[in-house]
Amino acid sequence: MPGTSAQLDGVRTAITTCERCPRLRVYCARIAREKRAAYRGDTYWGRPVPGFGDPQARVLILGLAPAAHGANRTGRVFTGDGVGGSGDFLMAALHRAGLASIPTSQRADDGLRLTDVYIAAAVRCAPPDNKPTPDEVTTCLDHLEAELAALPRLQMVVALGGIAWNAWFQLLARRGITPRPKPAFAHGAEWRWNPADGPGTVSTVSTVGTASTVGTVGTPGTVGTLGTVSTVSTPGTVSTVGTVSTPGTVSTVSTVGTVGTPGTPGTVSTPGTPGTVSTPGTAGTLGTVSTPGTLTLLGCYHPSRQNTSTGRVTPPMYDAIFGDLLSAAIPAPRRRRR
Ligand code: SF4
Repeated sequence: MPGTSAQLDGVRTAITTCERCPRLRVYCARIAREKRAAYRGDTYWGRPVPGFGDPQARVLILGLAPAAHGANRTGRVFTGDGVGGSGDFLMAALHRAGLASIPTSQRADDGLRLTDVYIAAAVRCAPPDNKPTPDEVTTCLDHLEAELAALPRLQMVVALGGIAWNAWFQLLARRGITPRPKPAFAHGAEWRWNPADGPGTVSTVSTVGTASTVGTVGTPGTVGTLGTVSTVSTPGTVSTVGTVSTPGTVSTVSTVGTVGTPGTPGTVSTPGTPGTVSTPGTAGTLGTVSTPGTLTLLGCYHPSRQNTSTGRVTPPMYDAIFGDLLSAAIPAPRRRRR
């Protein structure tokens, strides 16, 4: 798999050979044997499905679990669940945003390349009725932990659905981060852990459910007051915090400095110039700049057929998430030219 780091290769091996959830392993193997009539000639993957994407990704898209005849068949997350299925819907949005090389996701050998994005699932084995048990989610989080450790540049997580959202907070709890009350999942809901705020606050919650109104700009003046980062999962240099170009904009913060070692309080050596937000709360602009060493969490409805066929989830809604959001969070040079 081109672009996959050695560390991610190790994680991939650990996932694909995992047998820790007997119920799921038995179910996946049975589905792989019995097959769906339309895929009778296919050799099903039938094993746990690892994440997929750019090892240098700054955005992690976190889904629920492989589909029985989708990723459990093809071996690649969000791949092969039928023409116009969730994989196609998601990949079309990423392609429009310049983050995916093709607008579909039907086969593992289709040449798809992701830029700045890594896609994984909270649970790596297809569960019956798409419903993993809480214990299975908890058990499988170890694999997500391992993937996170192999993705040193992550700044944002987009949780596709409530189970992924809750899984993320479960993972944070392992690190002692337990916001109370726990932020509720919603399309466009955003949670950003700022060390200065204590255990975590909801910085932005969007207007939900319409195509063009996705986000509001967060608290004015938060950028530039970076200070000390108390928890850093992976060492590395954060070279650019990002800029937001439209109302609600932080105009200047370019270089942030070096983040310290994992688990050790680190210091942002050059916090930059505090920015100002001229018009906070502008609908349609999802402008949030992450604090180094933290991960911003964004809620997004899952692109299931049930959601997309009923209009609960529309392409413009996804464009607002992956277009507007990433335009703000990811500087253009890292993105694929179209
Ligand atoms: S769901 Fe996760 S932990 Fe359970 S068997 Fe599959 S890969 Fe292993």
